[in-house]
Amino acid sequence: MKIAVLTTFPEMLTGVLSGSILGRAQAEGLLAVTAVDIRQYSARKHKNTDDYPFGGGAGMVMLAQPIVDAVEDMRKQGYTGKCLYMSPRGKTLTQETVKEIAQREDDLIILCGHYEGVDQRAVDMVVDEEISVGDYVLTGGELPALVLIDAVARHLPGVLGSEESARDESFSGGLLEYPQYTRPREYRGLQVPEVLLNGNHAQIEAWRKKQALKVTAERRPDLLERKD
Ligand code: SAH
Repeated sequence: MKIAVLTTFPEMLTGVLSGSILGRAQAEGLLAVTAVDIRQYSARKHKNTDDYPFGGGAGMVMLAQPIVDAVEDMRKQGYTGKCLYMSPRGKTLTQETVKEIAQREDDLIILCGHYEGVDQRAVDMVVDEEISVGDYVLTGGELPALVLIDAVARHLPGVLGSEESARDESFSGGLLEYPQYTRPREYRGLQVPEVLLNGNHAQIEAWRKKQALKVTAERRPDLLERKD
């Protein structure tokens, strides 16, 4: 999957994109993320990308022109998929949306706002969907864009070590995940549950299902209601 991230702070993306699983996915050609500096599209003399809000109020608003030009340029460069604007006013991101994006889209344009947000005309002209990462406000759309990219990347074929890794975990079956343990068998007097050590796969499966139901009922009963 090919993703262009439109931002006024491209350097905010570099570290996260080059490390760990996202770094490897890009090295292997499974994912290609390009940070596109909106500033280079500004038609203003000093290449600024924001201005005071009409009607008054605190903060700055990002100009429509550089954003619209940047998106149009991405279209010319072959990005035909959705243009998503990361915004607290958007639809809250869920595992379902993440999977849908991973399965349906070959490429994406992600727009990151900053300051007080983006001139509404840019949103109306070039944005297909607004996506929020939760009911709180951040300083910019860069962290939300990275959250979306990371969550989507885990569902691209070959990105995770084994196919099960993404299938078995929290939210995938509508439940939170069962507890995990690794070596040693005893740590500070605490034992790993016996059932995980006996090699009986049917019993292990049953135990994990029961634990997943228990933790979901305790922490997120809303997920169980949604399931039936
Ligand atoms: N004044 C706006 C908030 C602007 S925050 C409002 O009240 O709605 C600045 C930028 O950060 C936004 O344009 C958006 O791109 C990003 N952002 C902030 N919180 C976010 C969230 N919860 N989800 C996604 N993007 C967010």
